[in-house]
Amino acid sequence: MNQAANLPGMDRYPQLFAPLDLGFTTLRNRSIMGSMHTGLEEMPDGFERMAAFYAERAAGGIGMIITGGISPNEEGGLAVKDAHGNVAFSASKLNTQAEADGHKIVTGAVHGAAPDVKICLQILHMGPLAYNDNLVAPSKVRSRISKSTPHELDEAGIEKQIADHVNCALLAQQAGYDGVEIIGSAGYLLSTFLVEKTNRRTDHWGGSYENRMRFPLEIVRRVRAAVGEHFIVIFRIAAMDMLDGGMSWDEVALLARELEKAGVSIISTHFTWHESQVPTIATMVPRAAFTGVSQRVRQEVSVPVITSNRINMPDVAEAVLARGDADLVSMARPMLADSQFMRKAAEGKSEEINTCIACNQACLDHTFNFKQTSCLVNPRACNETLLNYHPTEQPKRIAVVGAGPAGLAYATVAAERGHQITLFDAADAIGGQFNLAKRVPGKEEFYETLRYYQQQLQKWAVDIRLNTRITTEQLQSADYDHIVVATGITPRVPYIPGIDHPMVMGYIDAITGAKPVGRNVAVIGAGGIGFDVTDLITHEGPSAALDVDVFAREWGIDFKHHPRGGVTGVEPQVARADRTVWLLQRKDTPVGRGLGKTTGWTHRLTLSRRGVNMMNGVDYVRIDDDGLHLLVANQPECLPVDTVIICAGQEPARALFDELSALGLSSELVGGAFEANELDAKTAINQASWMAAAI
Ligand code: NAP
Ligand code: SF4
Repeated sequence: MNQAANLPGMDRYPQLFAPLDLGFTTLRNRSIMGSMHTGLEEMPDGFERMAAFYAERAAGGIGMIITGGISPNEEGGLAVKDAHGNVAFSASKLNTQAEADGHKIVTGAVHGAAPDVKICLQILHMGPLAYNDNLVAPSKVRSRISKSTPHELDEAGIEKQIADHVNCALLAQQAGYDGVEIIGSAGYLLSTFLVEKTNRRTDHWGGSYENRMRFPLEIVRRVRAAVGEHFIVIFRIAAMDMLDGGMSWDEVALLARELEKAGVSIISTHFTWHESQVPTIATMVPRAAFTGVSQRVRQEVSVPVITSNRINMPDVAEAVLARGDADLVSMARPMLADSQFMRKAAEGKSEEINTCIACNQACLDHTFNFKQTSCLVNPRACNETLLNYHPTEQPKRIAVVGAGPAGLAYATVAAERGHQITLFDAADAIGGQFNLAKRVPGKEEFYETLRYYQQQLQKWAVDIRLNTRITTEQLQSADYDHIVVATGITPRVPYIPGIDHPMVMGYIDAITGAKPVGRNVAVIGAGGIGFDVTDLITHEGPSAALDVDVFAREWGIDFKHHPRGGVTGVEPQVARADRTVWLLQRKDTPVGRGLGKTTGWTHRLTLSRRGVNMMNGVDYVRIDDDGLHLLVANQPECLPVDTVIICAGQEPARALFDELSALGLSSELVGGAFEANELDAKTAINQASWMAAAI
């Protein structure tokens, strides 16, 4: 047996755990924690919290970490106001010695946790997407998703931006980073030089592609010259930018070759601009959907290539590497979901991995709402200094009633800490509302969360009592030290005359298929569940999330011929059930506005492409044999439907809690039973985890 085969993990995932020799340094395996803005960057104690966050991932076995994006100057970043109203950048900018000294806290902690892990600082100049008044770009072209038009850079301004990138790389080197990643994708500054629609210049920085490449290549050349040969320089390219009229394959390939000549150590492939109208990381995207594009880039260069996007389990990463699609696999969100991902894989405990379900709800939705990042399935993410599951010194006997997200999170965290937990549920399986979500096309990842919880319950010896509707009397006589009521919600039944008509059903019956849904359907309520139900009943054929060809057809991507941006001239082909559907709400706001910031648009676009009639500002009048009668702008209208599905939100199910309280038993509410409005799995798991950490 050779020596490499003895390395941890090599027997199970030989590709993933193979070291990679970069000539001057070696990566201990092929896994990379991709860049993820944490929101800690802007916090007063950001360096300390980032240090704890990254160090935990380093100890968890990752090969290399790329930090969240750090701006090389003021104009490229996110200007936040401090307590006195002054603009402050905290750790989100690196162009001073004081900031470099702060970053030493991060690099010291990471190398202290695992001396052989590498950490690179991502230099992110946001260009026309920056959040400040002095944003700059090659031309005065405002992005579809930006509030401001950028200032056009003059020659001196361009030289300054290049110099600032070099300065930032040098400061990163001084701060103890092993390298830098320069982002040249996503609609940020460097990528806007590459693409004609954002680069309208006629000088030697614009016009021909050779001129448009000049700015990013010049940055790489000068950074390499400044930092020397023994420093990792990664460049992130948009290998398929998903823009109508975006980069052609020839342009991508030429850029990759020129980057190699300019001195990059590694090329990282990225697959979008933020303004693109194709989902590339949401849960409806198939796992590893884009790695074939990385493989084509890999054939153009001799430096290692990183691939990414929806690689969330070790077997997926292993298969990507075994196919030769890339040399390295980047996983950003999966490292939020489970800091110990690689250690568990190495130890043959992949079943224990808390899998990223690509929901974006606690990570990117937070980032783009300027809130601290965390993770729906792991509330400890970015809270490593605040939320810890320390062993209890006073173990208690605790009954947890309800095995939905809140009950599962509470039971597993409290049991891990040493409490003795009995978990009750009236159903024959754990999961509660997760069991509905997993049936929705594109939400198959919820199976992974259920697998994770099942495994944790077993690991921490939780006594599970399914098919058990526990009563107050039984709980009282069992004499528990504490009772946690996670009994969830009951669907709201709105008062509408005719609500008991046979054509009316609740969303649970519609999702489980307990009742047949007709050909003409009104969905009352356009929240997350109204959208899910509408998606389910208008869906036809295999789930796009499980089939790359279906996904490509539905979103108009041509992976084979790679037209400009991968999408130019390709019409989305939407398969849809033969059904007419109206999705309704009373509010005047656009239907679907309350959905997730980074994924809501995908749901709205999907349903509108399937021809769903989305109506806001309606009043429900009555339901009878003719259909659903409405008032729309005070005008009567009757939708000729044969099915009405109620998705009108929920009420807390807390009868048990009221009974326990009346008896004076020690009990507390968690999840939907505590607060049903705006409840989702993120809130439920987060609340339950903090409570279980405190008992
Ligand atoms: P929700 O988001 O609160 O939406 C309830 C809908 O019902 C609203 O459209 C509301 O709009 C309508 N409604 C409320 N009271 C009504 C009444 N008395 N009569 C008629 N209509 C009424 O609740 P949900 O859709 O059940 O979702 C529950 C939670 O799960 C939410 O937090 C949601 O975000 C989450 N979830 C998220 C996703 C996701 O993809 N991120 C998916 C599923 C669920 P009007 O009041 O304007 O009519
Ligand atoms: Fe993944 Fe959702 Fe967690 Fe983000 S919040 S890391 S998408 S599971």
